Amino acid sequence: MSEKEVIKPSNFIRNIIDADIEAGKNDGHVHTRFPPEPNGYLHIGHAKSICLNFGLANDYDGLCNLRFDDTNPHKENEEFVDAIKKDVQWLGFDWEDRLFFSSDYFEQLYNYAVQLIQQGDAYVCDLNAEETREYRGTLTEPGKNSPYRDRSVDENLDLFKRMRAGEFADGSKLLRAKIDMASPNINMRDPAIYRIRHGVIHHQTGNEWCIYPMYDYTHCVSDAIEGVTHSVCTLEFADHRPLYDWFLDTLKTANHPQQIEFSRLNLQYAITSKRKLTRLVDENIVDGWDDPRMSTISGMRRRGYPSAAIREFCERIGVTKADNSVEMEILDACIREELNKISPRAMAVLNPVKIVITNYPEGQTEQLTAPNHPQNEEMGTRVVPFTRELYIDRADFKEEANNKFKRLVKDKEVRLRNAYVIRCDEVIKDNDDEIVELRCSYDPATLGANPEGRKVKGVIHWVSAEHGVKAQVRLYDRLFNHPHPDSDKDVEDFIAHLNPDSLITLTDSVVEQSLSESIPGKVYQFEREGYFCADSELCRDGKLVFNRTVTLRDTWAKIEQS
Ligand code: ATP
Ligand code: MG
Repeated sequence: MSEKEVIKPSNFIRNIIDADIEAGKNDGHVHTRFPPEPNGYLHIGHAKSICLNFGLANDYDGLCNLRFDDTNPHKENEEFVDAIKKDVQWLGFDWEDRLFFSSDYFEQLYNYAVQLIQQGDAYVCDLNAEETREYRGTLTEPGKNSPYRDRSVDENLDLFKRMRAGEFADGSKLLRAKIDMASPNINMRDPAIYRIRHGVIHHQTGNEWCIYPMYDYTHCVSDAIEGVTHSVCTLEFADHRPLYDWFLDTLKTANHPQQIEFSRLNLQYAITSKRKLTRLVDENIVDGWDDPRMSTISGMRRRGYPSAAIREFCERIGVTKADNSVEMEILDACIREELNKISPRAMAVLNPVKIVITNYPEGQTEQLTAPNHPQNEEMGTRVVPFTRELYIDRADFKEEANNKFKRLVKDKEVRLRNAYVIRCDEVIKDNDDEIVELRCSYDPATLGANPEGRKVKGVIHWVSAEHGVKAQVRLYDRLFNHPHPDSDKDVEDFIAHLNPDSLITLTDSVVEQSLSESIPGKVYQFEREGYFCADSELCRDGKLVFNRTVTLRDTWAKIEQS
């Protein structure tokens, strides 16, 4: 066993695997898979499943496959396949040479279905969708046998072959497993194995097939073919486990993986359903799947969330069978902890007001040095130019204020971060009483330290007006203003809970010169403001656009308490 395994907290899945290894099951091998359907982009819930499946394989020196469960061609496409691969890689996991598609097995799945027919375990049924539903019964009433249930093996073989050959219309026939129409588990009431779908072009198999295997059948057979030992899935599949086992037992496959269910991740203030995320994209409520407000992995990447923080989050929330709803603060805390360690500091003025230092020589530029990280000297220093005209944030000045306001006040002093102490002498306003400029004076003796006996408590950030660079800053916030947007019974639709302030765009911000060459995706701490990264899509032709990744502190806690 590897060292990593020892440090990780255990969970019930690890306990099952430990017991299996102890008992010599699967010769002690662990082989898992992450099985997305390529019908949308991955979200934070999938991250939990990815970290779990690939994590178990890593910890037990096993293997994890990436397998696309692609049995619904009308909802799937290559764009989703590519996006999913990119996201899994970005999260830090490697499927090596084990990239598979269920469609790789369509011929084998067909042959297994023929085997079921030959064994008398499957039949072709001509009931239409509505009749099939009626015959199925309900939770409290048993179903009824289909009148086609007792077709002969030969007739079934012939019909199934002709289904494949394209002789029958969509919906006119189904291949069904012959199990038990009276089973208390509805999934066992002769579930469909194959359906007819004409005229769809499958992203992997083109127009080769006009019949497609159903998910429940495909999933277990694909697991078995791939030599999966532990088929980890979410709780809603618990009722499908008897069917999973029935197919593999009935087919007598050489390998019979064990299905283990865990609870899905639900994240407060977010949506973890591909169907609903698709709606946000299709109705242009957000700016695509990778909109930084989306709970998709690509959205979080664009927003600047480090993959290490997402992995840490998945570790912290753990794996259980209990339904849960995880607080957004836990994710934010993981993001902040990681970013605090790795982000270089920089100064950016989001809502600028100009100050003129009247006793500083015109035309002079002083190259001051600033540390890139307060605790980590290895991150080095950078040069910040100081000039007569600077910008500070409007929120950092008041004409009058009490001692609690530790920023610049008329006739009082404040320290400019990494630079001098200044005093505000005069406030210049326009005709609308708006402040347009502050006239200040600086004390040359205060660079880097307070001279003895001098108490200046407040420190504010600034940018040289001459050397600073204009930037657009996008202040992102939670996309929803309700902790459970999609399960609130009081509204018809989760759209009602969209946060109208989830994006505020500032167009006049000024950032320090060193940021003009920012690498998209790299996150900086704008001192006193939060963590920001240059946007990977919008920074074009010298235009700078920064996304706020996360604030420095949890600003929602205050709102929720009030
Ligand atoms: P959605 O409901 O968002 O469409 P899905 O389960 O249909 O999700 P799949 O592509 O089938 O999406 O999911 C791939 C894997 O990810 C499955 O094993 C599924 O159980 C797991 N998964 C999906 N959503 C979550 C979640 N919220 N928490 C944990 N695992 C999840
Ligand atoms: Mg699914």
